[in-house]
Order: sequence, then structure tokens, then C-alpha cells
Amino acid sequence: MTDTPYADRYSVVIVGGGAAGLSVAARLRRARPELTIAVIEPSATHAYQPGWTLVGAGVMSLADTLKQEGGLIPQGVTWIRDRVRSFQPDAMTVTLENGSVVEYRRLVVCPGIQLNWDAIDGLKETLGRNGVASNYYRDGAAYMWECVRTFSGGTALFTQPVMPIKCAGAPQKAVYLSCDHWRREGVLHRVKPQFCTAGVRLFGVAYYVPSLQKMIDYYGVEVAYKENLIAVNGQKKEATFQIVGTDQTVVRPFDMLHVVPPQSAPDFVRSSPLADEAGWLDIDPVTMQHKKYATIFGLGDATNTPNAKTAAAVREQAPVVVKNLISSLSGEPLEGAYDGYGACPLTVSYGHVVLAEFTYGGKVVSSLRFDQRKPSRFAWNFKTRIFPRLYWYGMLKGIDPKVSHKLVDTNS
Ligand SMILES: Cc1cc2nc3c(=O)[nH]c(=O)nc-3n(C[C@H](O)[C@H](O)[C@H](O)COP(=O)(O)OP(=O)(O)OC[C@H]3O[C@@H](n4cnc5c(N)ncnc54)[C@H](O)[C@@H]3O)c2cc1C
Repeated sequence: MTDTPYADRYSVVIVGGGAAGLSVAARLRRARPELTIAVIEPSATHAYQPGWTLVGAGVMSLADTLKQEGGLIPQGVTWIRDRVRSFQPDAMTVTLENGSVVEYRRLVVCPGIQLNWDAIDGLKETLGRNGVASNYYRDGAAYMWECVRTFSGGTALFTQPVMPIKCAGAPQKAVYLSCDHWRREGVLHRVKPQFCTAGVRLFGVAYYVPSLQKMIDYYGVEVAYKENLIAVNGQKKEATFQIVGTDQTVVRPFDMLHVVPPQSAPDFVRSSPLADEAGWLDIDPVTMQHKKYATIFGLGDATNTPNAKTAAAVREQAPVVVKNLISSLSGEPLEGAYDGYGACPLTVSYGHVVLAEFTYGGKVVSSLRFDQRKPSRFAWNFKTRIFPRLYWYGMLKGIDPKVSHKLVDTNS
């Protein structure tokens, strides 16, 4: 990492030093060390967010999910520790919160998804207290484990907002792991678990739903569809849900509540010329190049590509972005192609995972050579031991191996 003041103009500027930004920076640096590259990232701490489901279940420590951002920025890449305020794509510049302007030849936009905690009335006042927890922020995951560990009975409510969200399976992973903990502690019979989702089915890809339904039945979870959390009263221990598509509301009492916040494109992307009508970064789903501005590429949770917003998707997108960005710098055709791959390791119990893998259009694919609908100990070991290492020492270093996936015949 260079700590000299940044120059005005870089070959490549990367907005966001999360999973996507660091993967692209590392790969690009290896492929083209002569390029000047800058990562704009305000945070000093980088989080392995897929680990937070495990932190909330006492399987991983919070410390194991965190590293200093400075130690992860690749050697020779400049870290601009600030936040982008706005984009000027015609001038090929971005403006930072501190007012400085940074020029680029190519821009990679990957600032992640925005968590809209304020959209739930009363939530901010009670989050992290009164039994109201969330695996969707770092201290929340630690508090979630405290709530689960000390819970001895009563109503445990778990929510899921309107899509899209990052890791669509994470809301129900919290349900399964909490219930399995209570089962192992012998208190599940005193718990009334309820999963209230704004969706109309358990999971977007129908192939995996029967396996998940089996776990819901096994733990005795009551599922309420089309219920969207709109307000929380932590003192009274009441959660208010709106029935999706109506003005009707339902108030549910709780003793413990796991909240997944509504999510959207980041405001500074939404209000920029780079956004589509819904506010997401408007890129080609195959080449990852911006639909209007050829000097801009994007990946990760902030884009409008119709894949599952996961680190698994980022892992497949980063090599495509790097390949196409390099081609675009030398005026060659863009040959890198992303197929919409995403994966969701659904932790259905301590020790077992249903590893859902799919591409654009919900086509089921498989990287492993067994029926991935079946809860697997092998996949659990991947989720808890292999994936974190692959993330820190492979993906973020730009050296993770390509793992091929095969189309699954879902009729057989
Ligand atoms: C509880 C939970 C469980 C998950 N489980 C899984 C899982 O099992 N498997 C899986 O594959 N994925 C999982 N994910 C999803 C995964 O973490 C994300 O999809 C992934 O981190 C997306 O990478 P990203 O770089 O787009 O966004 P992020 O990693 O969130 O990084 C975005 C970065 O942009 C920075 N930024 C924001 N605004 C600005 C700005 N204005 N200027 C500059 N920088 C900015 C942020 O500080 C941040 O560092 C999970 C996520 C959560 C929360």
C-alpha cells in the first residue's frame, strides 16, 4: 500500500473497498502492475459479512470476521480514505465528501447495498436492546448470539423485508440456527418461533424449497407470508407488520426479535446519472459495463443485475470485470461474460448446510458432485472453515481458483 498523497488522475478508480472492490483491485494489480489504481473506501475496518450469521449463532467470533482495511489494500494500490459524494461521468471524475475531485480513465463502482434501518419506525431506538437483534450489522450479530444463548422460552420473531436484500437466505439461516440451538439446549418446546416474511415463498429458487420446508416443519416454525415489518416498540415488545399490497396491519408480541432491515441502492448512486429507474447501478448483466458510460464498470450488491446479492456472486463477477476493463483500456472487444452465478449456504442446523447454487433465471447449478438439496456436513465445513479462508487469502488477494459449476437437471 502506498501512503503518499493521491495523484489527480488514476488509470483505474474503484469506489468501495468491500468484497468487490478489494477483489478487483487485487486481480487488476496482478494482471497489470503498471496501472495506477486507487480504492476509495471510508471505513478502517473490513468485515467478512457472511460470517455474521455464524457469529449470531456462536459458531464464529466477531473478531474473526474483521480485519484492518489498510492491511487488505494490495501493495502499490492507493487507498483514498474518504466517501464518494457524486459522479461526473462525462468529465470522468468523482467528487469526494471532502470536496476533492479524483479523475480516472476507468471507474469501477461497487459501494454495496444500503441498509435502511430508519424505514422501520422505532427500530433505531431499540436495536441492540430489549431482545431486538440483527445479524445485518457487526455488533448486532454479537448481540444476536447473546439473545439466543440466554433465551429460555417465549415468542421468537424473525423478519424478512421486501427483496432485494443481500444474502436472501440469511433471514432464515438465523431461524434455523436459533431453533437448533434451543433444541440442543432442550428448550425448543418452550419457544414459539415465527418467521414473518414479506415474500410469498421460502426461497426464490423453487428447487430448494421442499428441503427448507422440511426444516421449518421439523423445528415447528410458524411462517407468515406477505408480512412486512414497519414498526417496533422495544419497551412493549410489539412488532407491527403491514400485509403487502394492502393497508392492513398486524401487531405481533415478541420476547425476542431478529430484524433484517429493508435495503436499497446507496443514495449517492440513486441520485446519480449512473442509476436505473429503481436507483441501482445500470450495467450490462453479462459484460458488467455501464449501459451508458463505457468507461464505467460495476459489480457487487449495488448493481441492477438480477443475480443473488452475495459474496459468491462477487467472486464470479470480479474476474469478468477485470478482463473486460483491461480489454476496454486497449480498445479490444469485451469477451468476459458473467452468467449470474450466486450461491447461498443455508445453515439448516449446527453441522448441516443446504448449499443452493444458481445462475440467471434461477437455473440450478452445482459445483459439488452430490444432491445439494440434502443437508450436508461437507457443505457445513465449507461454510464454516473453507469459505472464510478462501475469502481472506484467495478472493481478496486476487488468487482464488475458478470453480466450475454444472447445470443441474431439475426434472430428474
Ligand atoms: C448477515 C449476512 C450474511 C451473509 N451471508 C452470505 C453468505 O453466506 N454467502 C455470500 O456469498 N454472501 C453473504 N452475504 C452477502 C455479502 O456479504 C455481500 O453480498 C458482499 O459483501 C457484497 O460485496 P460488495 O463489495 O458489493 O459490498 P460490501 O462488501 O458491503 O462493500 C461495500 C463497500 O463500499 C463502501 N462504501 C459505501 N459507500 C461508499 C461511498 N460513498 N464511497 C466509497 N465507499 C463506499 C463501504 O464502506 C463498503 O466497504 C451476507 C451478508 C450479510 C449481511
